[in-house]
Amino acid sequence: MSSTTKLAVPNVVLQSSFSMPVIGFGTASETNDGDTVKAAAIEAIKLGYRHFDTASCYGSEQALGEAIAEALKLGLISSRDQLFITSKLWLSDNHPHLVLPALQKSLQNLGLEYLDLYLVHFPMSAKPEVRKFYHKEDELVPFDLKGVWASMEQCHNLGLTKSIGVSNFSTKKLEDLLSFATIPPAVNQVELNLSWQQKNLREYCKAKGIMVTAYSPLGAGGTSWGSNDVMESELLKDIAHVHGKSIAQVSLRWLYEQGVTFAVKSYNKERMKQNLEIFNFSLTNNDYQKINQIKQERKVKNGPAGFDLADLLWDGEN
Ligand code: NAP
Repeated sequence: MSSTTKLAVPNVVLQSSFSMPVIGFGTASETNDGDTVKAAAIEAIKLGYRHFDTASCYGSEQALGEAIAEALKLGLISSRDQLFITSKLWLSDNHPHLVLPALQKSLQNLGLEYLDLYLVHFPMSAKPEVRKFYHKEDELVPFDLKGVWASMEQCHNLGLTKSIGVSNFSTKKLEDLLSFATIPPAVNQVELNLSWQQKNLREYCKAKGIMVTAYSPLGAGGTSWGSNDVMESELLKDIAHVHGKSIAQVSLRWLYEQGVTFAVKSYNKERMKQNLEIFNFSLTNNDYQKINQIKQERKVKNGPAGFDLADLLWDGEN
């Protein structure tokens, strides 16, 4: 494939009526430096990625914004509307009066006038003055979901984001949100991969018209929050071998066949390309029998808290 050949990625239509490309390009990394993120995002646009996942806490918004500006300048895209950009509200801004300024700051970082999707990153709030990735127990404060969601709706009504949604929400928290939301969440972005398949949550979201976006779709090997369970699975190695595909491609294909969208992170050109090449094979019943045997274990146990918070965060859900 020449560097200018793009792969077409299918879209899904969200309940907000906007289209979202099934494959998103993740930008969370513990070693995010601006030049690397910018170069990777430009390469991603060349390869055909149109959906980009960032967050105020990733430190990637500015570099992604520079990549978008460069892609426009180079003519890789003719307009910003050809991209689907997601960002997220961090814990320290998870307060009703801080939502709008936080979104405005993200837009400023990205150099954009609107987002396609703005997500409440976690159903947790931290003291506004404490901005960091992992929080201690005494830095967290009660989360006002109703007030925060009203502010998210205001952001949508102001035209600053086309869709609004949540991330890391259990069915219990979604049920609570749906009981008062004027605008229902278009998306719930959660950990979802072959070793954390989240069947109940997926079925609940489908019934409510909420699109699931899988994060850590390969299990996030090599990060402090992930594991090698997926990428080192012997069962998946066998399936991949039969199809002449990689474990990553089998994992992403499985997500696609479940009708969900996903954000996958690679800053390596070959792996970025590989992660798009999932539309020319299908998993068989035999593959599904093996997939059903994979041991299930959540990797992101305590979210951005350095203490045992699992019950509070996930409501005992599996
Ligand atoms: P991931 O995409 O499952 O895994 C990323 C890791 O897999 C990286 O180490 C990457 O290394 C490697 N990789 C990627 N493609 C590969 C391939 N084809 N073969 C072998 N290795 C491959 O994990 P993630 O970064 O946690 O999740 C993806 C995105 O979801 C994030 O970047 C972020 O945008 C989002 N996310 C959201 C939340 C949330 O709370 N909402 C939490 C976590 C992540 P190389 O870069 O070296 O290829």
